[in-house]
Amino acid sequence: MQKETHVFQTEVKQLLQLMIHALYSNKEIFLRELVSNASDALDKLRFEMVSNDQLSEGESALKIQLEFDEQAKTITLRDNGIGMTRDEVIENIGTIANSGTKKFLEKLTGDQAKDSRLIGQFGVGFYSAFIVADQVTLRTRKAGLAADQGVEWQSSGDGEFTLETIAKPTKGTEIILHLKEGMDEFLSAYRLKNIITTYSDHISFPIEMLEEQAVKQDAVEQDGENKDSDKSKMELVWKQINKATALWTQPKSEISDEDYANFYQTLSHDFEKPLATLHNKVEGTLEYTSLLYIPTKAPFDLYDRDRRYGLKLYVKRVFIMDDAEHLMPNYLRFVRGVIDSNDLPLNVSREILQSNHVVDKIRSASVKRILDHLVKLAKDEDASVYQGFWNTFGQVMKEGIIEDYANRDKLAGLMRFSSTHNQDAKQTVSLADYVGRMKEGQQAIYYLIADSHAAALGSPHLEGLRKKGIEVLLLSDRIDEWLVAHLTEFEGKSLKSINQGDIAELADEAPEVTEEEQQARTSLVEKLQQALGDKVAEVKVTHRLTDSPACVVAQEGAMTPHMMRLMEQMGQ
Ligand code: ADP
Ligand code: MG
Repeated sequence: MQKETHVFQTEVKQLLQLMIHALYSNKEIFLRELVSNASDALDKLRFEMVSNDQLSEGESALKIQLEFDEQAKTITLRDNGIGMTRDEVIENIGTIANSGTKKFLEKLTGDQAKDSRLIGQFGVGFYSAFIVADQVTLRTRKAGLAADQGVEWQSSGDGEFTLETIAKPTKGTEIILHLKEGMDEFLSAYRLKNIITTYSDHISFPIEMLEEQAVKQDAVEQDGENKDSDKSKMELVWKQINKATALWTQPKSEISDEDYANFYQTLSHDFEKPLATLHNKVEGTLEYTSLLYIPTKAPFDLYDRDRRYGLKLYVKRVFIMDDAEHLMPNYLRFVRGVIDSNDLPLNVSREILQSNHVVDKIRSASVKRILDHLVKLAKDEDASVYQGFWNTFGQVMKEGIIEDYANRDKLAGLMRFSSTHNQDAKQTVSLADYVGRMKEGQQAIYYLIADSHAAALGSPHLEGLRKKGIEVLLLSDRIDEWLVAHLTEFEGKSLKSINQGDIAELADEAPEVTEEEQQARTSLVEKLQQALGDKVAEVKVTHRLTDSPACVVAQEGAMTPHMMRLMEQMGQ
């Protein structure tokens, strides 16, 4: 087929521009991204080969090769993985398939530091090549296709790319970066090796570079004038430069904090160190390894509908899938990591995962590990660590109360709220703190739901309780109404709304009244009842107010005004 010119999707152009600027100070990550793609391609091929060994095309060793040319100012990265068809090249390299991308672009702020973190998390992937290159050539051939079915893609990242059919005898992909002016630092074996060992040491395939090595002359040559059997010459040979063992398969004692953090960065595209790293090897009736990370910063798509899930699933070291959503409940979707199972079949699909008892067990054990770790953090003397976690992920953790019945008690202990105890909007009060401060004879854990913290704090419903010194939790997150609908008690104390029904602690407030006063009240109540008609169920004299003349209270068990408003908003 003739050489064709295509135009990038507008979003791609936009993304390229942003990325080149945002990631300038982190430019070496291009190599991490390209190596990670090569590794994915090898993973995919190895997986396909399980059912079709023809795909190996006679090459048994799956590997990645990296070389550079000082004269031509190029870097080449090669893999003998799955490769791409022409259509796949157009789809994967010329468009942004991920529907979250548009949203991502909308989120960009123009603040360089913030945007580069976002863009890093989003996983710039292949396009990061244009941070260092002004021309990129990709040559690829899908495993299993004929040698003349190769494709060459070329672009200078300025809006267009060309496509050409080529002959490529070996399967897999080769990417040639023509470095920009000023990028000569990458034309160094030392520098490239260093980047590989920093970011890609754990990649489970060998990454090779050419190295000079002394080789003995062949014995045949010794017949001539060259009699010296020790005589050797220098030759370039491929040498493996990474460890090439999947990090999680190594014993914990051999993994440094830095190794863990680097692996986390490749998984999450997050520049920050993780808040926690949980690595467990499980043996017995079920055999699997889990390496789970709790991030420090929230991923940008934490609340997106088409967000990705954080776990990669492997079966006996073979990569099976990304975003394995059945391995983590929804509310722990920010957890990143790897599960490698010895018990699942290699041909496991998302459908199978949905109702599989092995998966269920791995999942509940992993959830327990994460929650137990959070409980430990919450107990830590340095409260700022857990508080930081809560400030970032608290809203999502609240979903857990609704979603995860089995762990409700543990989750309840992890909740943090704002309360009248410390006035400000920060969510720092645990239910245990509250219970510890309860007044003698206090019947319940009281809370008030409002649209905002300010509205809660100014609510007339607080007046009576404030006077008595009874603490009230102030709930103003959208999810709080659902939360308290599911969390009805904590350590034997029930949770009770103060704008719903009577409050026992305020019952003794009724002062002595004369017959006359009593009559005046009764007639006022009657008049109000008539005026309001069936807009209200009942008008009552109350002692819960100190300054305000009246307030609206929901009946015991009825929907609160806040909930009614939410239901209206949702069109119910
Ligand atoms: P991601 O890796 O997150 O999917 P990238 O931008 O890094 O995003 O890559 C886009 C897609 O291009 C990959 O999903 C893959 O389908 C394809 N691709 C990139 N590099 C290779 C490669 N070396 N071999 C085969 N396919 C590749
Ligand atoms: Mg990638």
